Amino acid sequence: MTSPVVVAIDGPAGSGKSSVSKAVARTLGYEYLDTGAAYRALAWHALDEGIDVEVPEEVLGTLPGLDLAIGTDPDYYFVRVGGEDITPDIREPRVTGVVSAIARIPGVREHLIRWFRETIEAARKPGIVVEGRDITTVVAPHADARILLTASEDVRMARRSAELTTQSAEATAKQLSERDAKDRQVVDFMTAADGVTLIDSTDIDFDATVQVVADFVRSRVQ
Ligand code: C5P
Repeated sequence: MTSPVVVAIDGPAGSGKSSVSKAVARTLGYEYLDTGAAYRALAWHALDEGIDVEVPEEVLGTLPGLDLAIGTDPDYYFVRVGGEDITPDIREPRVTGVVSAIARIPGVREHLIRWFRETIEAARKPGIVVEGRDITTVVAPHADARILLTASEDVRMARRSAELTTQSAEATAKQLSERDAKDRQVVDFMTAADGVTLIDSTDIDFDATVQVVADFVRSRVQ
């Protein structure tokens, strides 16, 4: 069996990378892996277990028993922990508020990176679009296509607050910039590494962004 084509897409919160990646996967007949969902699922699980997320040992203690499942079919996306469907729950502000603390624990990253690589290897479709913060640099640095998807901070905040109806635009903007600042201490996802192509979606709409990304992938794999 040949290995699947791997498309690595990184970018900051609100860059549109999740919806763009999912649509690109659908266009190309590929699978789709949302790595942020894994960090969010672990954060949700830690809160559910009443764990202090600021204590790495406590968070690490939950990893061996973490029964995580994330759907990789772009038309059938789900996130489950211990068989429980938590797809909407992982987007709640209380989860978003603690996910960066969890994602900076080295043992958590090692565990999830291993899980991501196994999931990539197990892809049954001809390719897989993997999106996150460190996919182009750490998880899949040898991916067939490597993209950094960005947009101006104003546009990112506007897109994110349109998605979230449970809090004010100001609260969303504040949470987004604080989260980016924390996440940037762990991985630099604002600068394209060597060999990574920067695609800026500030002035193009969703459909145009999907087209640009899909065309770029085709140019790399044909
Ligand atoms: O992509 P999303 O915003 O859902 O990611 C949630 C969080 O997961 C990020 O804020 C970051 O802390 C973490 N993350 C990460 N590395 C990735 C993907 C996400 O550290 N590859």
